[in-house]
Amino acid sequence: MAEPETSSLNAAPAQAGGPAAAGGELRDAAGRRIRYLRVSLTDRCNFRCLYCMPPEGVVKLPHEAMLRLEELARVVGVIVEDLGVSKVRVTGGEPLVRRGALDFLRALGALPGIADLALTTNGYLLAGLADEARRAGVQRVNISLDTLRPERFRRYTGVDGLARVLRGIDAATAAGFAPIKLNTVVFRDNLDEAAELLRFALARGLEIRFIELMPSQRALDDQFVSAEELRRALAEEFALTPAGAEGAGGQSGSARLYRLDGGGVCGFIAPVTEPFCASCDRLRLRGDGRLVPCLSSDEGFDVRPFARPDFRRRELIDYIRAAVGRSKGCAPGRRHIRAMYRIGG
Ligand code: SAM
Ligand code: SF4
Repeated sequence: MAEPETSSLNAAPAQAGGPAAAGGELRDAAGRRIRYLRVSLTDRCNFRCLYCMPPEGVVKLPHEAMLRLEELARVVGVIVEDLGVSKVRVTGGEPLVRRGALDFLRALGALPGIADLALTTNGYLLAGLADEARRAGVQRVNISLDTLRPERFRRYTGVDGLARVLRGIDAATAAGFAPIKLNTVVFRDNLDEAAELLRFALARGLEIRFIELMPSQRALDDQFVSAEELRRALAEEFALTPAGAEGAGGQSGSARLYRLDGGGVCGFIAPVTEPFCASCDRLRLRGDGRLVPCLSSDEGFDVRPFARPDFRRRELIDYIRAAVGRSKGCAPGRRHIRAMYRIGG
């Protein structure tokens, strides 16, 4: 299934107005302060995760539609320096497959207004790039890992790559990222490995985040496992004590955290059964310049005309402020979310 077309592309009013206009902050129509930007560098990926890529293959965004990385970095610079967003995560597709990804990270790492620069990756290329990414200014890394069994890994991702990803995790640890989180989507097929994955994370000082399977281009309804069911399964082996929501204390976050008896923490991200819309502070920017407030909504705004051929900083600031200010944000409960390989979660 193709990704739904955006309904309001470039339809934001030219002038800033509403709640977003106050001060330097960015606020949406619901008054939510936007503090967190997720930037998807590319829709290309070296994996074909069964819950992310549609079975019939994907229609890739044409190269000419993509912003050059210098252009994308300038747009991010405006969002950070002029619109008060201090936390940025670089994602994909697989961000590390895009040529120039490290230069891009370096450019973001050098922004004075950035307080937190993070990367989400499938880990396949990380062993060779972890040190450089750390030196570029990336502080935190999330690595996706749904199984520790090579055969399952191949079946889930289409790539015989578990050993490489494990080397990537080791390299990230050696490079000094803190924290390193594992993103683990739990579904029927790997539910029996959840405890093992948790033990794996704890033994290495990693923080695991179990993620509910979101409806995607692929019909996997019979695979859905709720966070509550997963917690019940884990409780057979671990004593889990609720430790609040990630992000309590002003930082953004979507996970509910649980402390484990023997030490350590794990998190559950449950966009389906425990949506966190009220506290969501995210904005997403795709590599083609499309600005997307919410995964579950068709809303989208195009910043590309302000980034090329000339960079029009002042107009870009006004446009983004107005676009976000009129954004209604969420459409929870939708059957179908945006293509994850384009927007990066
Ligand atoms: N390629 C990178 C990776 O896999 O980490 C970054 C992009 S990927 C789209 C970001 C995250 O989205 C991954 O942790 C992946 O597991 C998750 N994801 C993709 N499709 C999903 C779905 N249908 N439901 C829940 N999580 C999903
Ligand atoms: Fe898998 Fe991430 Fe690639 Fe999607 S973008 S196929 S989740 S590795």
